[in-house]
Parts: sequence; structure tokens; C-alpha cells
Amino acid sequence: MIECIFTIDYEIYGDGTGALMELVHVPAKRLQEIFEKWNARFVNFVEVAEFEKIDAVATDPAIGFVKRQIRDLYESGFEIGLHLHPQWCNARRAQGRWILDATEYNLCTLPRKRIVEIVEGSLGYLRRVLDQPDFSPLSFRAGNWLFQPTHTAASVLSEYGIKIDSSVFKGGLQRNHKLDYRPALKNGYYWPFSDNANEPDPSGAWIEVPIHTEMVPTWQMTTSKRMSFSGNVGMGGQGLKRKVNRALDFLRFRYPRKFDFCRMTLAELTSMIDRVVCEDRKSPEVYRPLVAIGHTKDLRDFRSVDAFLAFLRTKGITVCTFSDIYSKLAQPQACVSVPAGSEANVGRE
Ligand SMILES: [Zn+2]
Repeated sequence: MIECIFTIDYEIYGDGTGALMELVHVPAKRLQEIFEKWNARFVNFVEVAEFEKIDAVATDPAIGFVKRQIRDLYESGFEIGLHLHPQWCNARRAQGRWILDATEYNLCTLPRKRIVEIVEGSLGYLRRVLDQPDFSPLSFRAGNWLFQPTHTAASVLSEYGIKIDSSVFKGGLQRNHKLDYRPALKNGYYWPFSDNANEPDPSGAWIEVPIHTEMVPTWQMTTSKRMSFSGNVGMGGQGLKRKVNRALDFLRFRYPRKFDFCRMTLAELTSMIDRVVCEDRKSPEVYRPLVAIGHTKDLRDFRSVDAFLAFLRTKGITVCTFSDIYSKLAQPQACVSVPAGSEANVGRE
């Protein structure tokens, strides 16, 4: 059985540039309309740290629209997940632009006390935005997918009620940030974990539902649509060693192509689903929640999103949120693995 969970990272560019109206509010509004037309909902991963800073310093007049939109999405049944780029927490303004704190780029490498401060502050802000003093998100996605080393951050986040992570993308490798999700290639479509997001643990309180990926030959990553996204810059891209490491990450025989509904063409999206449908015919007893990722700042091709939702409808594939499927994921058989020889094992490195 296949179900699709659409997730959208709701944020401006990773280096602090970009306008909220253009990169967040307008694309999210159109996406909401398309999903409501299909009576479907997505998971809105709100990057709370940047909105709190932008709000405090009043640098973007659209912040009020963004806060209203987050509340409106929540009240309309869209799931609000926590997304954090902690480099924003110490951000300061200089010469009309944001200077972010690269030393806090990875939440997981910070001391426990600092993680608590960041999570508590962000959740407090989110609760005020939603006007829900008791709100706790169910799901989390780390900034730049960095949920390693997992132990301390996972333990803090679970104290605040978060139960699902969707940071892992199987096969992922970023040498600059010591991110390595290649061990997860041997796992199933989702798994419980405790100390290490790569490592299934049947007694773990967390559930990993990774962003769906396929290991593809590197040349397949160079469609004109994907190559048109040059503005999504992160931090720390300077320096020869970092550039060499990034090149090495990319120069692999096979590369994990994320199920990205903003960057993939409609043909790529539908053929990716067709391959999972083939697998599903062979072992329909395996539950296959497929997480798609998108970014508001990448949302340009709304026609393809609409057509893709139509395609899923014709295939009988339900679009749902993590909240919708949590009880199914939390059942003891959550450890069910993908049978040997299936697509999850193809292209292991
Ligand atoms: Zn992000």
C-alpha cells in the first residue's frame, strides 16, 4: 500500500536573503489552493528561527501575512511541522543584510543546554503565532537535513512531544557537515529509532519517515528544470576544501535523487511513482509512506503540482499528512523491512 506525504520547507534562502512575500507567502497560498481543490493536505515545515528574528527586527513588512498564513493553514487542516535552521538564532543585521551564525549551523552538534534554548524559544514563538499555547508539532525536519549526531537533539525534541523525523534521505552524503545517510539504504520505508536516525530500533520512541529517494546515475540529476534552481544557496559554501568536498559529494556513480515535487519534472515524478507501484504489486502487504519534499522558494511550476495530484488520484494513491498516518506508523510491525531485491536496496554504495 502506497500513500504520499507532501512536505514543504517554508522559508527564504539559507543565507538570509530573499523577500517573504515572494519566496514564502505567495507560493504557499497557491499551493494551498491547489491542495484544497483536491481535498488534500500537506505538511508545512515552518522554519521558525528565521521568522522569529525577522519579526523581532521588523526587516520584512510581509511577516504579518506569513504569521496569518501559518495560522490559516493550521486551522484549515494542514499539518504544522517544526523546521529549524539554528544559524538564525544569533543572526544580526549589518549593512542592510542578515549575518547568520555559521557556528550554530547544525543543531545536533550544539550543547544540550543550547539545543533546549533553541527548541523552547522556537516552539514558544510558534505557539504564539498559532495562538495555541499547548501546541506541539508531531513532526520535525532538521535544517539542511542535518539530524546527525542524532542522540542529544532527538532526546530534547522528544521532550517537547515530537515523534516523527523526516530529515533522512537515504544515500545522502555531505562531507562538509559529516552527514552520511548511506547506512539507511538498507532500511525499509520507515522505521522506529532512538539514538541514531540511520539505525532502526524497535524500542525507539521516534519514527523516521525519510524523504523518498532513488539512487540514480549522476547524469540524471541534470535536467534543465533542476539546473534552473541556482538561488537556493546555503551557508559556508566558500573555501577550496568545502568546494572540493561538495564536488566529491556529487561525483558519485549514483546519487540520491529526492522525491522533490518542485524540482522534478512531471515525467520524473510520475515515473518515480510508477516504479514504486511496480514494487507494491509484488508485495502489497508492505506499507509504503512516500515523503515528497518541496521548498516554497522553489515553487514555480504549479501546473505540474496540480497534474501530479491528478495522477496520484487516478492511481488511487492517497495524499495525507504524518498526523493522518501516525497510528499506522506506530504499530509494532513498524519495523517491517523491504524484501530483499526491492528498490530500497538497489544502488547501495
Ligand atoms: Zn530549510
